[in-house]
Amino acid sequence: MSKTNISGNKHLSERDQKHLWHPLTQHKVSPEMLAITRASGARIFDEDGKEYIDGIASWYTCMYGHCNEAITSKVARQMQELDQVVFSGFTHEPAVKLSEALMEILPENQQKLFFNDNGSTATEIGIKMALQYHHNLGNDRKVMLAFEEGFHGDTFGAMSVSGLSVYNGAFKDHFIAVVRIPVPNGENNTEVVRKLKELVSDYKIAGFIYEPLVQGAAAMKMHDAKGLDDILRICKENEIVCVADEVMTGFGKTGKYFASDYLETKPDVICMSKALTAGLLPMGLTSCTQEIYDAFYSEDISKGLFHGHTYTANPLACTAALAGVELLTSEEIQADIKRVMESHRRFAEKIKDHPKVTNSRQLGVIYAFDLNVKMERYGNLRNKLFKYFMDQGVFLRPLGNTIYISAPYVISDAELEKIYSSIEQVLEEF
Ligand SMILES: *Cc1c(COP(=O)(O)O)cnc(C)c1O
Repeated sequence: MSKTNISGNKHLSERDQKHLWHPLTQHKVSPEMLAITRASGARIFDEDGKEYIDGIASWYTCMYGHCNEAITSKVARQMQELDQVVFSGFTHEPAVKLSEALMEILPENQQKLFFNDNGSTATEIGIKMALQYHHNLGNDRKVMLAFEEGFHGDTFGAMSVSGLSVYNGAFKDHFIAVVRIPVPNGENNTEVVRKLKELVSDYKIAGFIYEPLVQGAAAMKMHDAKGLDDILRICKENEIVCVADEVMTGFGKTGKYFASDYLETKPDVICMSKALTAGLLPMGLTSCTQEIYDAFYSEDISKGLFHGHTYTANPLACTAALAGVELLTSEEIQADIKRVMESHRRFAEKIKDHPKVTNSRQLGVIYAFDLNVKMERYGNLRNKLFKYFMDQGVFLRPLGNTIYISAPYVISDAELEKIYSSIEQVLEEF
């Protein structure tokens, strides 16, 4: 029997099942998708009219709130001027303006921007820049260095440098060459440096790709800035191209514009996506230093970066990104970031000694802790937690036993309180 939704139509979640194949989903065990019909600020609304606080900003994208007027109005205007044009041989104002605005907030050594379509291709380009940089200079370096539990996306290069998991296991025989080091946690820093030096002498390493300070997919694991700085310094001394994957950490989430701003050694290449376009349209960007760019600059055509996606620098996506950067650098959003950080700090302080809370950690507006319960009592703990939060109108996406918040900067204090109290209820009831 078909159900109907509040518009009186057959349920979308039922129609969905006929033809749609969802990401990161085993349809046999998770057949039903929740249909969302509307979003505004920090809230999303389902087809039955129930509302949820978007505690993860829809995968860390819509940091300035869903359907933010300041962004949608500019994109609507741009849409009537210039929708799309080839970016090879042509340019346009939204791309030029975006490049100028990004240069104001990126680490000072960044000079050039290469467009792509999403986070995976942003890191794919980062990897290609590192490999081809050495190729163009005539160096025999074909190996990438990465952290053991990193996540860099779902395309082949990005999968290769990611830690092994259900995401990439089926393809491991087809990967590019990668060697790995553990993340520095403060206690193992000398051990990590020792391993790094060993790898540097044993392998011809072209580049090091890393998520600076916070590894999102590894369950918001945070690592030691001093330890990462030591690694980056050694990489630079050995002419290893440092590729910061800031797809998750970029655009204010760590409390600074980029996580790399916490580090002394700046990356040669930075990968951006997710909050880049404020959750409105998909786009990725890879920035690099003049030195990297110069290795591709030649009369020899084959030394160029021959990579180009059809929708490269789409004017609408550039317009959304430019509006996003304008918001990010505004006093209002900067004040919101401070407010959310301070609010998380107080909440963390309040629950940190609770016996079920371990590894409580925070950087900027990202707050996470691990729920210390007997996992085997719950079957699939993660799914039970997800459902528990959703029933209370809170959209959080626990990873294993890790509960984390990365909400839009514009979330209200009352909405934050609602997330916190649902977490406190979990601490009571699980
Ligand atoms: C999400 C993510 C990616 C992949 O981005 P997509 O847009 O999903 O392809 C890459 N790196 C990091 C750190 C991410 O968080």
